[in-house]
Amino acid sequence: MPGKGRRDALSDRVRRMLVSSLYAQPSSLAIGAINGLVSSSIAAYASGSKLLYVISLVIGVVAIVRVIAAVALNANRDNTSTRKLELVYEIGAFSYASLLGMFAALTMVLQTGTGVQVLMLANAIGYGIGICARNAGRPMIAMGQLTLSTVPIVFGALYVGDVTFVAMAATLFLLLPAMGTIVNNLFKVLRDSIASAETSSKLAERMKVLAETDVVTGLANRAGLNNALVEQLMALPAERSLALFWLDLDRFKEVNDLLGHPVGDRVLGEVAERLCNIAPEGSTIARFGGDEFILVCPVDNRKRCEQLSADVLAEIQRPMRIDGELLNVPTSMGVAILPEDAHDADSLMQAADLALYQAKVGGRNQVRFYDTSMSRDLMRRREIEAELRAAIQRDELSIYFQPIVDLQSGRIRTFEALVRWFHPEKGELRPDEFIPVAEETGVIVTLGNWITRQAAIAAASWPEDVTIAVNLSPLQIRAPGAALGIQSALREAGLDPHRLELEVTESLFLDDNESTAAFIEELSAMGVRFALDDFGTGYSSLGYINKFPFSKIKVDRSFVSGPNVGKKSDAIIRAVAEMGNRLGMDIVAEGLETREQVHTVADAGCTLGQGYYFSRAVPDYIAATLLAQERSEGETRARANGR
Ligand code: C2E
Ligand code: CA
Ligand code: CA
Repeated sequence: MPGKGRRDALSDRVRRMLVSSLYAQPSSLAIGAINGLVSSSIAAYASGSKLLYVISLVIGVVAIVRVIAAVALNANRDNTSTRKLELVYEIGAFSYASLLGMFAALTMVLQTGTGVQVLMLANAIGYGIGICARNAGRPMIAMGQLTLSTVPIVFGALYVGDVTFVAMAATLFLLLPAMGTIVNNLFKVLRDSIASAETSSKLAERMKVLAETDVVTGLANRAGLNNALVEQLMALPAERSLALFWLDLDRFKEVNDLLGHPVGDRVLGEVAERLCNIAPEGSTIARFGGDEFILVCPVDNRKRCEQLSADVLAEIQRPMRIDGELLNVPTSMGVAILPEDAHDADSLMQAADLALYQAKVGGRNQVRFYDTSMSRDLMRRREIEAELRAAIQRDELSIYFQPIVDLQSGRIRTFEALVRWFHPEKGELRPDEFIPVAEETGVIVTLGNWITRQAAIAAASWPEDVTIAVNLSPLQIRAPGAALGIQSALREAGLDPHRLELEVTESLFLDDNESTAAFIEELSAMGVRFALDDFGTGYSSLGYINKFPFSKIKVDRSFVSGPNVGKKSDAIIRAVAEMGNRLGMDIVAEGLETREQVHTVADAGCTLGQGYYFSRAVPDYIAATLLAQERSEGETRARANGR
């Protein structure tokens, strides 16, 4: 029978509950005991029989012992085995029932008065039937009690032989199977309802576990973490802190894309396992979203927390062998501590999230601890985010142009377009402040297309030989339809693609991806040129220079001005310039502020220069004036030479 196995699995707990019901109301046991004692004493007194006195005394002793045993076992029920509970009850119940039955039978055999007989027969039979219903949860006990309290009466009645007694014996005899059926039915109803309550509570428990578990790693999921976090907070001793470590695998998407999802899942599994191994006892570990993990644990102090964060990071960064491949999993981590950084679960999460963000912005694969400046930073970013979307419509943004000059002739060859935001309250905002926010929020795509269009429109009015350079952020390039945005800007402005130069930084190639290569190929095929910006600050891999068609390399201004400028930076500029000359690329020195710097970089072999020495970024009409001046000076010079 298919249902049987299931029932057996439950039967231990169900049986336990049924046995417990025997002890459910010790008071009813006490009332029964008092009743038995009082009525048997009265019967013994009224009949004057010594034998009945003795039995009445035994009934009293048994009743008192039972009540005491019941109260004691009830108090210690959890530590007492089901079998023992049942056995103790059985012994008491059976002795009591048989004493009562025997007493009633003796009132007939000893021919006491009718009153005594009625009192004790009513007592014994009433007890037998009543107890039968009460104990239906254990049918053997119930029927045992009924049998033991009535069968002596049957024999007693038959012994006396009076026709009315014989009739009573027959009635009692029929009572047994009748009650047997009733008890059995009652028992089934009880058992099944307890079993089904058990099943549904087990099911609910299982559902809860499933709802709180991440299927890939078996760790807690978001819901599980929320619950565990609340529990950890409540259990946290006053002198301890709660540390929350928020980890983000830096290049997980790449693993997934290149090696496939099964490998990705195994990386997640391995990270989960390593976290479990290194986490102190009492930690909660959860997977949060795709490639983020959270570890929460009580710590004694900040120092311990720092140690732990370093250990965890080192553990995750250990190369993983998966399918014979050795993988590195660089990871960023943000850490926040309660009560130092936060006072509840939500703010603890927020603080760790902010710290994680800083770890990622700060170059990834590192740990950052929360500090309050991060919250201020976030508030400012939020404000900027809200206003940025409206800024284009409100005409608060403009494009400024900074000349890039030929170091030999001194003539302007290109203008770099640099965006400016004139905020009505905050004043002029630096691109370094709002471009990252635009990137984070995706506004950069709209903003970038607008900038390219405005820059192209301005450039279209300049002499043919002057080009325009526009900065592109990696996100803008990776957005769908990126090349189309550039093409339509060119078309609208009526600018020859050869006159557009796009400045990109090496960070674009960090997440090496096909759409980037396609973007560059498509636009260079049209004649658009590319410049590698801020060279020397990132990986400075020559691989990119070889792989992509750059026409220009812009040496970062930290090599030209600033505290680190010296022999070394000079040698680097020389090496880059030398390479540029060989490959037919222009080398631009950025950040030229003094005549001396101009000479130094020209001497080193740079072909172009940009910086305050020549001009700051200026509005379009001043850019046009600069060009006009240069051309008219050139003409004057040419005319003077011609004379
Ligand atoms: P960048 O592309 O390296 O731009 C050059 C930055 O150096 C500009 O700052 C420019 O004003 C500044 N600069 C030029 N000459 C000198 C100098 O002689 N000394 C010093 N100290 N600085 C000089 P700006 O305009 O604040 O732009 C900062 C960064 O913001 C840019 O760096 C670029 O990465 C980004 N950015 C600016 N405009 C745009 C844009 O339209 N789109 C995108 N995606 N990014 C932009
Ligand atoms: Ca630039
Ligand atoms: Ca630059």
